[in-house]
Parts: sequence; structure tokens; C-alpha cells
Amino acid sequence: MTWSNWQLPPFITSVFFILGVFTLYWVTFNWLISWVHSRHMDVTDEFVNNLFGVIYMLIFVFSIQTLVVGKTDSWIFMNFQLLAITFCAYYLNIHIPYYFFFPIVLVYMVFNHSIGYWQSWGHAITLMAFFWTLNVIRVRFHDKKSAPWIYLLVTTGFGGPLWFWMRLKFNLTWGTFWQEWLYMIIFEELLYMYVSMLSHDVKLKLQLTKFASHDALTKTGNFAAYTDDIKCFFANSLKKDLPLSMMMFDIDHFKNINDTYGHLAGDHVLQQVSSVVQTVLDANDPNVKFYRTGGEEFNIIFPGYKSKDTKIIVNQIFTAINHLQIHSGLQLINISISVGVSEVTADDKAPMDFYNRVDQNLYYSKRHGRMQVTVA
Ligand code: GH3
Ligand code: MG
Ligand code: MG
Repeated sequence: MTWSNWQLPPFITSVFFILGVFTLYWVTFNWLISWVHSRHMDVTDEFVNNLFGVIYMLIFVFSIQTLVVGKTDSWIFMNFQLLAITFCAYYLNIHIPYYFFFPIVLVYMVFNHSIGYWQSWGHAITLMAFFWTLNVIRVRFHDKKSAPWIYLLVTTGFGGPLWFWMRLKFNLTWGTFWQEWLYMIIFEELLYMYVSMLSHDVKLKLQLTKFASHDALTKTGNFAAYTDDIKCFFANSLKKDLPLSMMMFDIDHFKNINDTYGHLAGDHVLQQVSSVVQTVLDANDPNVKFYRTGGEEFNIIFPGYKSKDTKIIVNQIFTAINHLQIHSGLQLINISISVGVSEVTADDKAPMDFYNRVDQNLYYSKRHGRMQVTVA
């Protein structure tokens, strides 16, 4: 078709076809991830990556095979299918246990009318070994300099036997065998270059997103992330009638620390405080979110908590920070914090109403001698 209509050799159209399939994957995956994030859904990117990757590639592998199933040249799309498998195993690094993998292969063989051929069984076993080897080399070598060479070695090494089984099953000529094996190596290398370029962009984007939502000094969420998240948590709490609480704290007499020990020591204190708070939160509940909302002011959002439920975590943070001794050169800096805690009530019309109450509680603590917790 391509020869007669466009005067393009099938190899060239194959290259663009395969790059198109992966580009479409990338675009739809990114759209899906943004959609999941915008809805604050409780699933990890890795889960979406694995599920979507497997479904997309299975649809791809099965649908192109329907065009040729049962025909004498039903091997013609095998290189595309090997690329789809490489993509899942190596680039997405999806680990499929053999008790899932084997049934998928069986279904494919029934679908492809190849279950009765011993050569197909040899092919299927080689394919599983290929997938597993790709998983292993990705984990062990992907950040090493040798990664491209090991990838080349494995894809070339498995390409030979995989096409040899097909030569046996379909009585392919040696010419076809060598040509298809060579095409596979070229496709796999093109894929490597293409994905490397794309993931370079993705890494950059991830870095920028992190910069935009995280405080550079303390690595906590920043004010922009806080305002974004509180809107979502507040709306969710109203919609599902779930409790929502917030703790806000401010370091006492922080200006004195800067004046006495210097601004750098002040920065170090902010980092130490954040690290202690994050450790307490990680040990208790990873769903509790932590933000630096001002110079030495921090907010902690407790989704699903009433004020009284936050007591253990709030007390752990309060005690840990008030006992913290921070080294600055030869000197030890002692600090304390003042805290305000409150929960969403039926009268709150907007996140600001809720925030103001927490803020007033904090200032109540400040006005009444500092180093105390006010819950109201
Ligand atoms: P209070 O107990 O009433 O909270 O007193 P305070 O001294 O902590 O509060 P004040 O608002 O007077 O001072 C806050 C200080 O925090 C002033 C500002 O220079 C300092 N600050 C704000 N951001 C940073 C920062 O990123 N690094 C350092 N080292 N200091 C900061
Ligand atoms: Mg302060
Ligand atoms: Mg302050």
C-alpha cells in the first residue's frame, strides 16, 4: 500500500508508525496523570503507569494481530509487538509476575491459533525470559554508563532466538530471518533514542513542577501548594461531610535567632524544624500534609481528622520541637513554637474562614505567653 500510494518503503512507514504509537501513549498518559492529580485521587503515578501501560500495549498487540491472525504471514507484526513488550518491561519497568504473565501469553496463543505449535511454545518461553531480563537490566543498570550497551546486547541477543522460532514455524527463508532480526535491532535502538529524548523533557517538567510547589529551603510544600490543596480538601470535606483539621505554628522570637546567630543559622533552624515535623508526620500518617506558608510559619492539614484526633500528632510535634537542640558552630540553639489548631465547622463558607480561626488560635497562644497550643 505504502509503496504503491506514497512510494515509501514499508520500513520507513514502520518507523513512523511505531514512533506514533509511543507518542500517542505519552500524550494520553500525561493527560491521564494530570486528570488524576486535578481530582486529588488516591492513586500513585506508578499505579497509573503500570495499569495504563499494560492495557495500552495489550490493546495494541492484540489489535494489530487481528489483521493477520490465521494467515500464513501472521508473523509480520512481530517486531512491533516485541517493541511494545520492550516498552512495558524496560521503559515503564512494569514487573508482571509469571502467574499473570503466563495466562496472558496463553490467551494470546489461543487467539493467534498457535497454541498447538511446539515452536510457539518455545517462542513464548523465550519471550517471558526476554521480559524478565529487560526488567532486571533496567533496575540494575539504567543509571550506569553501560546501560545503552547492555540494552543493545539483550535486545539483540533475544531477537535472534525469537525470530529463529518464527523461522521454524513459518519456514521463513534465512534472508527474511536476518532482515527481521536486523529490523528489530534498529527499531529497538530508535526506541531507545526516542524515549531518552522524551524522558529528558519529562524530567525537566517534573523538576519545574517540584520547584513550583515546594519550598526550596525546607523542601516542604510552599504557599502556592497550600492554597491549591486547602481549596480541594475544603471542598471535599463539604461534599463528603468529612472532618478536616489544621494546625498552624510559628517559631517564637525567631527574629532574635537571626539577630543573635546570623541569618544562615536561622535558615538551618528552619530546615531542622521542617525535617523533625516531616519525620513525625511520616511515622504517623502520610496523608497529613505539611507546608511552609510564611517566613517561620507552617501549616499542617489533617484530612479526615477532627481537632481532637490531631492531639497525638500535634503533641508529638510540639514536644519534639521544644526539646530540639540545634547546633550552630559551637553553640546550641533552643527554640519553641506557638500553635493554633481548629477544625472545619458548618459555618465555614470558604477555606479562609477556617484558616482565620486557626490563625486566631495561634495568636492567642502568642499573646498568652508563647510555647503553647490553643485548640478551639
Ligand atoms: P514571634 O514570637 O512573635 O513570632 O516573634 P518572631 O521574632 O518570631 O516574629 P517576627 O515576625 O518579628 O520575625 C520573623 C523573622 O523571621 C523576621 C525575618 O527576618 C525572619 N525570616 C523570615 N524568613 C526567613 C528565612 O527564610 N530565613 C531566615 N533566616 N529568617 C527568616
Ligand atoms: Mg515567629
Ligand atoms: Mg511569624
